[in-house]
Amino acid sequence: MKPANTLFSGLGTTVFTVMSQLAVEHKSVNLGQGFPDGNGPDDVREMAARFLKDQPNQYPPMMGVPDLRQAVAAHAQRFYGLDVNWQTEVMVTSGATEALAACFFGLVDPGDEVVLIEPLYDSYLPIVRLAGGIPKLVRMTPPKWELPREELAAAFTSKTKAVVINSPMNPSGKVFTRDELQFIADLMIDHDAYAVCDEVYEHLAFDGRKHIPLMTLPGMRERCLRVGSAGKTFSLTGWKVGYVTGAPAILQPAAKAHQFLTFTTPPNLQRAVAYGLGKDQGYFSTLAEGLEKKRDLLANGLRKLGFGVLETEGTYFISADFKAFGFKGNDVDFCRYLTTEAGVTAIPVSAFYEGNGPDTFIRFAFCKDDATINEALSRLAKYFGKPL
Ligand code: PMP
Ligand code: GLN
Repeated sequence: MKPANTLFSGLGTTVFTVMSQLAVEHKSVNLGQGFPDGNGPDDVREMAARFLKDQPNQYPPMMGVPDLRQAVAAHAQRFYGLDVNWQTEVMVTSGATEALAACFFGLVDPGDEVVLIEPLYDSYLPIVRLAGGIPKLVRMTPPKWELPREELAAAFTSKTKAVVINSPMNPSGKVFTRDELQFIADLMIDHDAYAVCDEVYEHLAFDGRKHIPLMTLPGMRERCLRVGSAGKTFSLTGWKVGYVTGAPAILQPAAKAHQFLTFTTPPNLQRAVAYGLGKDQGYFSTLAEGLEKKRDLLANGLRKLGFGVLETEGTYFISADFKAFGFKGNDVDFCRYLTTEAGVTAIPVSAFYEGNGPDTFIRFAFCKDDATINEALSRLAKYFGKPL
């Protein structure tokens, strides 16, 4: 029999699924896969239930229900001062994962180079490659996660079609500064390149930091496809409602990909997300402040236990160095060991690198109830015989 698609046949199951399964198997506290313990805002879920009952449930428009496209445009104006035409510049997708795939398929021709920054979210590379793109990887490393400007500049060539920027960034928790974004914007202009901006954690920047969309910088409005996700903004990761904003010339080809990937997304969920995006400022600041407190709870505990806890400027995630434990093995081994022996699950940071990445760091998710975080910490304290 002929082999199936070589790219996908050769891929393993995502590290998030693997670790979540292992956590269930060992009744471990799962601080691996990034999903909140909570169930999202009650009013947003109530609206989804009401819309499910009262509104049509047949195919919504391919670009998304007008209410949500209008809400995405209004949100861009409210938070970033971006002037977005909801009819021609917004597309609703089934999560950011689909949005990213549609953007890559819409932008990339076989042979085009795509600049990506490691550590990177695991869906980027397979899809860029499936589109025929040639990944040019630039590496950022812990503990500082500094943007390697020289390497980044060297990765751009006349063949660069696009760069992928994830800010706030998973798993590093880095929030790109205006200066870093300006550096990237200059490279894009010099090389006539586009950017796919993965901004799913846009509302999760901490300590008074403001998330800056690359799209807001001079000359970037026509060059960026900006991706958001209701999963993160409303703590409803199972809903898989995403949105892309971009100039018609680049959004249209992404829409052509979207029409053959999923075509549409459940209409009641879209309408409920439209309602959610209109919530008052208090909702968005409480979301970030709540997570900031959870970050501190977990970071303080991990530090007391001897982990080298790195700074987390945004997202759901803390990365921590486990060198001090004198463990013989890499981060993948350590995550397995923590799950099976201590009953706490994390994600190896090397999973966000192609080839050999840094292998003494693991990622913990803190988007959990305080009780879950405390239970994880006390299990670790007990196992390692350390006081909290
Ligand atoms: N990008 C990043 C950086 C992520 O961490 C995730 C995971 N939630 C996604 C995209 C995918 O988002 P969604 O669940 O909306 O597909
Ligand atoms: N974004 C989530 C994380 O980084 C996982 C999403 C997934 O499981 N595909 O943990």
